[in-house]
Amino acid sequence: MVAIRKKPLKLLWLEALMRRLLKDDVEFHYYQEQYRRLDAGFAGEQKVDHVWHELIYPNTFFVLHNLCLMNTAQHLHQIDTLFICPHFMLVVEIKNIHGRLEFNQHTHQCTRTRVDGTVEGFPNALTQTERHMGFLKNLITSYSLPVEGAVVIANPSTIIVNSTSTLPIFHASGLHKYLQSLFKKHPKKLMDNQLTQLVHLLLSKQIIPQIHTSIAPSRFRHGVLCPKCTYQNNMYFHRGIWECSFCHYRSIEIFAEAMLDYRLLISHSITNKQLRAFFRINSNDAATRLLRKFQFPYTGTYKNRVYHLPENLLEHMKNFFDGGFA
Ligand SMILES: [Zn+2]
Repeated sequence: MVAIRKKPLKLLWLEALMRRLLKDDVEFHYYQEQYRRLDAGFAGEQKVDHVWHELIYPNTFFVLHNLCLMNTAQHLHQIDTLFICPHFMLVVEIKNIHGRLEFNQHTHQCTRTRVDGTVEGFPNALTQTERHMGFLKNLITSYSLPVEGAVVIANPSTIIVNSTSTLPIFHASGLHKYLQSLFKKHPKKLMDNQLTQLVHLLLSKQIIPQIHTSIAPSRFRHGVLCPKCTYQNNMYFHRGIWECSFCHYRSIEIFAEAMLDYRLLISHSITNKQLRAFFRINSNDAATRLLRKFQFPYTGTYKNRVYHLPENLLEHMKNFFDGGFA
């Protein structure tokens, strides 16, 4: 079983932030850098995912993505990829960093040297992997399943400089061979029902990560923003359609993306007044029609009604676009 990798919430949040945060904001470059790293990381994980699909292996196996678990000290373990088979479990930390990547086991530092000579520090993937492995070993003591770990580099042109590491670091192309070596190394097998039980145990402990950073709405660009203008210009609502003030691109569905930005960055609920203020809709009736159209669950009486934006907001709203606007 290979689950489809979904974008982590933090990446969705940063994407929304990149669309909305004012370019001259004091923290713009800080968040832009976070976004770049996370986006590259996600792309790297997707690159490696095909290995699981191409894996020829006679037994049941599971690949869990973005597994988020809490340890007894209340610290989070965010595991990008966890491969589980009856022979062993493998923590795979995927890095999509180009240039020359150096892992120093003594300083626990990971540095990247670009072609132009600039050196930057990155969190050490080896230390991260070892931390996850230790945690998982403790968690599954009642199952006799070995816990392995590896750091996989998704970018084929990256040069790996590795002094004396305790864990293997290799390019994605080496993952197949490494898995085969582990199947040989751990011939003992768990029973199928034990394996399923173990996967259920892990999934039952899963924590839905939350974004704890709150940014004042005054730092965001308001309105429905035009995707054709790289979100630099506002779109206006007229007769059920959003139209860009600059390039005149027209769209009905773009409202779903704008609402997602609102949900990610501002609040999980919205009132008629908040909708009008944020999306620059003048008419009270038009705002009411919009909110009703999408049949969002609500609380409160008519005047003070609060609409709750569901977690699967885009899919939810998509259902109501097909029929067009009333
Ligand atoms: Zn435009």
